[in-house]
Amino acid sequence: MKVLAGAPVAEAIRARVREEVAKLRERGVVPRLEAILVGEDPASRVYVRAKAKACQEVGIASRTHALPATTRPEELASLIAALNADHAVDGILLQLPLPAHLEAHRFLSLIAPEKDVDGFHPENVGLLHQGRPRFVPCTPAGILELLRFYGVPLVGCRAVVVGRSDIVGKPMAALLLQEHATVTVAHSRTRDLAAVCREGELLVVAAGKPALVGAEHVREGAVVVDVGVNRVEDPALLARVFPADPGRMAELEKRGYTLVGDVDFGAVSRKAAALTPVPGGVGPLTIAQLLANTVKACLSRRG
Ligand code: NAD
Repeated sequence: MKVLAGAPVAEAIRARVREEVAKLRERGVVPRLEAILVGEDPASRVYVRAKAKACQEVGIASRTHALPATTRPEELASLIAALNADHAVDGILLQLPLPAHLEAHRFLSLIAPEKDVDGFHPENVGLLHQGRPRFVPCTPAGILELLRFYGVPLVGCRAVVVGRSDIVGKPMAALLLQEHATVTVAHSRTRDLAAVCREGELLVVAAGKPALVGAEHVREGAVVVDVGVNRVEDPALLARVFPADPGRMAELEKRGYTLVGDVDFGAVSRKAAALTPVPGGVGPLTIAQLLANTVKACLSRRG
């Protein structure tokens, strides 16, 4: 079984980005990403900080607008309008989730489509589904890079995507369709999930449920991509979903939690031909792809 590590793929994406940024900077153009963070969600803070650091490493200028959880809808709308109007801003990222009184779809729709580097604006979603992608959401775009990097054939392939979120499942299915795979999307209401998953020569799992996918879900020789990142703090839950993994238990005891995927790595690795690990698989690709989308936005506006 081959372990599909994300790091070399992310590095290849970053190397391309660095090259493009250097060329733009030679002409006096500095690509710029502006992130909007509303509220105190600790995970969102960590993500936004990681994105800013990644920008700095490749020479993309970035700024974070940290707004209080009490921000009024018109305040958020006017910040987005100001960033849309600022010629020096190439990419605008609205970190989700928003506090309950701010409706995500409404504000994502306010971002200028040509600066929508997350690919969540309805115009970009529509373009992807028409097979003329402009900005593709970063996690599925990164997964496609990973599949290409490791030479996974997609034309005519039977692909099963578990999860139908706007962020991962749906755009992943649209991308695979565009690559000429035969795509099935499974979700929480799917009957006999294991039987549906077993149809997949490629199985992409983005459900957010620790070790949902076991050996019985996997076709012999399948390529399995585990998108799930689940923080497990309960030793009893960990012992139930990963009974044969003393390393993870030791980590949980040391740090108070461990990150696990949606796939039971031990059981599935005995059946799959290739599998992404968690952490270290899909994780590193998302931010790398955000950098790529930002440079793309800069090139198409100012290139
Ligand atoms: P989500 O909660 O928005 O969607 C989950 C989807 O899984 C839903 O469509 C639901 O129908 C389906 N689902 C839930 N339980 C199921 C079950 N028992 N059987 C079949 N389908 C089921 O989540 P999301 O935003 O798509 O994220 C999914 C996972 O991927 C999460 O663990 C998230 O943390 C992770 N994620 C990782 C990255 C990364 O960079 N590695 C990026 C985005 C999301």
